[in-house]
Amino acid sequence: MRRILIVGAGQAGLHLAAGLLRNGYDVTVVSNRTPDEIRGGRVMSSQAMFGTALACERAVGLDLWGDGCPPIDGIQFTVAGPDGGRAIDWAARLDTPARSVDQRLKMPAWMDEVERLGGKIVVHDATAADLEAYAAQYDLVMVAAGKGEIASLFERDASRSPYDAPQRALALTYVTGLTPRPGHSAVCFNVVPGVGEYFVFPALTAGGPCEIMVFEGVPGGPMDCWADVRTPAEHLARSRRVLETFLPWEAERCAGVELTDAGGVLSGRFAPVVRRPVATLPSGAAVLGVADVVVLNDPITGQGAGNAAKCAAAYLAAILEHGERPFDAGWMERTFEGYWAQARHVTAWTNALLAPPPPHVLELLGAAGGLPEVASRFVNGFDDPSDFAEWFLDPAGARDYLARATAAAGAGEPS
Ligand SMILES: Cc1cc2nc3c(=O)[nH]c(=O)nc-3n(C[C@H](O)[C@H](O)[C@H](O)COP(=O)(O)OP(=O)(O)OC[C@H]3O[C@@H](n4cnc5c(N)ncnc54)[C@H](O)[C@@H]3O)c2cc1C
Repeated sequence: MRRILIVGAGQAGLHLAAGLLRNGYDVTVVSNRTPDEIRGGRVMSSQAMFGTALACERAVGLDLWGDGCPPIDGIQFTVAGPDGGRAIDWAARLDTPARSVDQRLKMPAWMDEVERLGGKIVVHDATAADLEAYAAQYDLVMVAAGKGEIASLFERDASRSPYDAPQRALALTYVTGLTPRPGHSAVCFNVVPGVGEYFVFPALTAGGPCEIMVFEGVPGGPMDCWADVRTPAEHLARSRRVLETFLPWEAERCAGVELTDAGGVLSGRFAPVVRRPVATLPSGAAVLGVADVVVLNDPITGQGAGNAAKCAAAYLAAILEHGERPFDAGWMERTFEGYWAQARHVTAWTNALLAPPPPHVLELLGAAGGLPEVASRFVNGFDDPSDFAEWFLDPAGARDYLARATAAAGAGEPS
């Protein structure tokens, strides 16, 4: 039986552990937090996940909430105009609903599931020296420690990392009592040009259904306003003030909001980065980086947890396919490049949305209001961002696609 150790009991580490256990591997997961610490701690994410990523979780038996978690049926896209109104405003449905289960609920339940499947959970804050000891004892060591300090053992890949500083000041506010939008449920994604973005959507937390507010403020701008906030109540008040100032239609929905709990708030910032997938320890042993450790995107497109699920699925398939052969550095590089073939599209699209929109993007997003097919394609790209390469990220492709979609709409046909 092959012995595998995973550092990090998060979205990717526990997914990999469950998948490996179901295939007969001996698995140990090292977590720097106990299930109670995670459950009783602070939120770290808004963790909305789209259809393909949810299917990856289901494939390893980790869809433990199903219909208990409110579905997110679509995306509403709004751009605030200079007059305080809405310059662009449209919505489209997702082909498959998205879902967000609070990681404080999800990870402790997944840790129980990993133990039920025969895995070992060791509570310890793993260090570089620990990795040496693990590498000597296990056939494969993977580091799925998210934004943990240990990720810095993996070298930044400058050729794949265009930013070296945070591009947004981030904040999360988990609330109940928010008025639902009319019609189907959605991620309501609002852009305030030059100021930042705000999105809000239904989720499931420990106490039941809630809504998660996500603020993405341009650094140094008026939505970068969390540094002097001292208490959860002040954080909620600041969240409401931002909406009253920039997004009055979203503020109106918040008349009756309350925090889900004192841990339901977060603020911070980090630089997006892609790292080399293999860290070579002083002994020469190689360890493989997983998910956020190697591809860390800004949350503006809500892709990190989905990417973690897709990374876990890709690595699991590569491990099973490799059979009894040694997990050497060459295999690790190839395994990561297999994942990067999809992940690079997420990174390219996410990094593009952090920059001021070029004319062809403004044209596409404006036209989507009158062309349901364009709106639908944009919205469903959140599930498979590789689709954006040929139209959204390419000015010539955008022009061709828009011409086709416009002609087809005129003729009453799909383009
Ligand atoms: C504000 C914000 C909003 C977000 N919203 C979304 C969203 O809507 N949709 C989405 O898909 N993604 C979102 N994300 C990103 C998403 O949460 C992450 O990308 C995802 O959780 C990454 O999974 P992971 O397994 O790589 O790391 P994590 O899920 O972070 O797990 C890493 C685990 O490793 C542990 N750890 C760290 N160091 C050590 C150590 N030395 N030893 C042992 N354990 C260690 C950590 O405590 C943690 O439990 C958001 C992120 C932020 C910051």
